[in-house]
Amino acid sequence: MALEDKEYDFVIIGSGLGGLECAYILAEEGHSVVVLEKNHQIGGNLQVFSRDKSIFDTGVHYIGSLNEGENLDQFFKYFGMRDSLKWKRMDEDCFDLIRINGKEFKHAQGYERFIETLVADFPEERVGIEKYCDKIKSLCDDFPLYNLKSITKDNLFGDINMLSLNAYDVIASITSNTLLQNVLAGSNALYAGEKETTPWFIHALIMNSYLTGAYRLKDGGSQISIHLSKAIRAFGGEILKRKIVTSANFHEDGKIKEVVLSNGETVKGKNFISNVHPVVTIDIFGEKRFLKPYVRRVKALRNTKSSFIIHIVLKENTFKYMNYNTYQINDDDVWGGIDYTQENWPKGVFICTPATSKSDEYADCVTVMAYMDYEEVEQWGGTFNTVAEKGVRGGEYEAFKRAKEDKLIQELEKTDPNIREKIVSVHSTTPLTFRDYIGDKTGSLYGIVKDSNEPMRSVINPKTRIKNLSLTGQNIILHGVLGATIGAFVTCFNYVDKHKLIDKVRNS
Ligand SMILES: Cc1cc2nc3c(=O)[nH]c(=O)nc-3n(C[C@H](O)[C@H](O)[C@H](O)COP(=O)(O)OP(=O)(O)OC[C@H]3O[C@@H](n4cnc5c(N)ncnc54)[C@H](O)[C@@H]3O)c2cc1C
Repeated sequence: MALEDKEYDFVIIGSGLGGLECAYILAEEGHSVVVLEKNHQIGGNLQVFSRDKSIFDTGVHYIGSLNEGENLDQFFKYFGMRDSLKWKRMDEDCFDLIRINGKEFKHAQGYERFIETLVADFPEERVGIEKYCDKIKSLCDDFPLYNLKSITKDNLFGDINMLSLNAYDVIASITSNTLLQNVLAGSNALYAGEKETTPWFIHALIMNSYLTGAYRLKDGGSQISIHLSKAIRAFGGEILKRKIVTSANFHEDGKIKEVVLSNGETVKGKNFISNVHPVVTIDIFGEKRFLKPYVRRVKALRNTKSSFIIHIVLKENTFKYMNYNTYQINDDDVWGGIDYTQENWPKGVFICTPATSKSDEYADCVTVMAYMDYEEVEQWGGTFNTVAEKGVRGGEYEAFKRAKEDKLIQELEKTDPNIREKIVSVHSTTPLTFRDYIGDKTGSLYGIVKDSNEPMRSVINPKTRIKNLSLTGQNIILHGVLGATIGAFVTCFNYVDKHKLIDKVRNS
């Protein structure tokens, strides 16, 4: 049957983690589902690419909360992903190394080990470190969305007072030792942390997830999207690549009848779920279909900063595999890295060696990431370049990238002065790469900024004014693999009995 002749129960726009997980849940429940993905490769930020036989992740470097019985462990069991993917448990004694102006501190897995490791460096601060952990645990216990025990409560967004606590303020209230404050917040690039705005719940939920089971995926995060897509197809669902959704046609009652693709094709559905950025969703379905204040609010929300990333292919057996990530901060204030100048960039970098099946001893590649404002590449904003739609950005852009690549290699030289001799090739991504592949407007790292000063403003309800349109993905609740997964369940609660669904997850 031709695409245009079918009518699906669910048409899902975008095959990011949230879109694929919604498709899985709904197809498993017996609904007919189609996922429309604009790219050549599915997965959104789960996409990988390979250069000189090395595989690089684009947007997922490690995943937390995977200890037996923790929330993502349980969700992934439901999706059949816990045993079938190639996991690598990160170093229990140090999954994140925080290097501040050359001085190193370790974040260890498990609350007890985390406390004892930090107390070794800060013997006077045991009380504060324990208090920090207690505060994280108590927030996680109380946060309705976060744990399967209370996810069935009706109040999905928790207590407003909890949402308006600021991460920096809470940490500063626990200890006056500024070095310890910095160490506790040292991995804040995980959520593009800002001193004035980052809510405590974002910090706490993310820290807790890594403390309760930090893992890498060997040979790339695309295993997740490949696994989900096979399962969706096995349930009878369809995933169609190179299908760019551009607009929609409506029934007289205001419900969506069909989406229109860039090639003029149409896809009919009873229900539609958008996994793309809410602002882009508004563009697709038309501003006039939403309330004006909603459009104004959503369009005015800030997005997290973008990034510049280098992916280095290394000569064989020259660079040791690191079973941890390094947050290397060249500033007395770990919250300061996000505001940089041309002179002091990068004020901090994230360094990791992806896990592979080839060797546990040596890395075959290394990734270095730093913040970058979209404005730095805006002059080339008129270009577009993906595998599906090739384009050229020009010589000046290439020269810009080479200069930035060199600065990030200098960061690696701080601990390995001979790194340049070990390099086979360097490949980099800019905010434009993320913009073109993911489809948001500025290549933002984690979507909409959550702001402790105005917590409800940045909460995006998955339900929309269009009766048969829901939203999913990193923007609705929380970013990251865990955040997008919780979001997918919340979106599907609109269509599936939530108690039964949660029972299925618990019993998986
Ligand atoms: C550099 C980086 C590092 C990260 N590291 C980690 C990490 O280590 N651990 C972690 O847990 N999280 C990490 N994250 C965050 C995590 O990757 C994301 O939060 C999550 O994958 C987002 O999923 P999503 O469901 O919102 O979909 P997205 O990944 O945003 O995908 C959206 C999809 O929609 C498609 N699309 C867009 N427009 C259209 C259209 N018009 N028609 C059809 N399709 C369309 C896109 O092509 C894309 O496939 C990282 C993110 C980045 C950028």
